[in-house]
Amino acid sequence: MKIQDIELNLLESPIRMKRSQGVGSIQAAIRRVVLRIRTDEGIDGVGEAQAWEVFSGTNENVFHAIDRFLRPVLTGKDPRDVPARMLECDRALVANPEAKAAIEMALLDICGKAAQLPLHALIGGRFRERIPLSFSIANPDIHADIELARQMMAEGHRIFKVKTGFATPAEDLRRLALLREHLGEDFDLRIDYNQGLKPHEALRQLRQIEPFMPTFIEQPVPRDAIAAMSQLAAALDTPVMADESVFSPAEALRTVQERAADIISIKLMKSGGILPAMKVNAIAEAAGLPCYGGTLWEGGIALAAASHFIAASPNVCLGCEFYMPRYVFVEDVLAQMTPAAAGHVQVPDGPGIGVEVDWKVVERQRIAFAGGRHAAG
Ligand SMILES: [Mg+2]
Repeated sequence: MKIQDIELNLLESPIRMKRSQGVGSIQAAIRRVVLRIRTDEGIDGVGEAQAWEVFSGTNENVFHAIDRFLRPVLTGKDPRDVPARMLECDRALVANPEAKAAIEMALLDICGKAAQLPLHALIGGRFRERIPLSFSIANPDIHADIELARQMMAEGHRIFKVKTGFATPAEDLRRLALLREHLGEDFDLRIDYNQGLKPHEALRQLRQIEPFMPTFIEQPVPRDAIAAMSQLAAALDTPVMADESVFSPAEALRTVQERAADIISIKLMKSGGILPAMKVNAIAEAAGLPCYGGTLWEGGIALAAASHFIAASPNVCLGCEFYMPRYVFVEDVLAQMTPAAAGHVQVPDGPGIGVEVDWKVVERQRIAFAGGRHAAG
């Protein structure tokens, strides 16, 4: 089997509400890349990348990285030798984890379709069939999110992650108090600063947050403030989770060595795909750190792929935040949304990633990108 072509699409996907986080905000629409790898045996694989400019990079860069640098090293090669293909991608282009995650996803989709096996069966088999779903309270209009959270609780949701650190500490405390007041105690509260606190102020502010009994506090300080992460993890009763501080397996190892977190958030867009995500998880697990399924703003293709990884990884036991397709996008690109019920995401069971893309939606959301070339159809 040989790779014939990679169709690349830069999309602009409208979203329903503004989202504010410690490092920045999104509103109206997000950009992402959806691709299809075509083979000479008629089996196609799909992949998706999403980059956030304040977090990791840009979607235009993802598009260009694949178009200009990864396409030539992949074309004509066997898509099923995934580690070999990814090593070639790493040699051709440094970093760019989102681009590599999308390529690896499509290769694994092809492997699964060729073998008639779901992706989770290719990476060891399934430990769980459904994953607890966390929704992020990130609307600057807290009352709009409280109303949505109330509806979600009626549907069985019990995990909410509050985005803090984009307003004043007093405002963060006010929002947390409002949530507990309106939603009660019967939910699992998590808090994510997205690097929003200054290292010298963080401990005092987080001590004021602890009485709300969060399950974890995520990335309170900037990604490179490893000494501050270590101090906070040692000083606080609440577990500290590393998100922006851990992209790669090497950064996971540094986090373990420096005791810079109690939990690690794994995102395919940070690790550069499922195979490196499994390495991050293995390092964490060996050190006794559980993991969590995080995301940037990617949609149903990438989240379905990530759900296979979590399905096959017992140590990723703190749930996932794969809520974008159902609750934030006006319209995702899947012909059918991945099922979710009672606050859980269902892991797809069809061959490969197990999703079907509606290419008409891809076409509708596709935008022109100067310097890139879009495949027809
Ligand atoms: Mg985070």
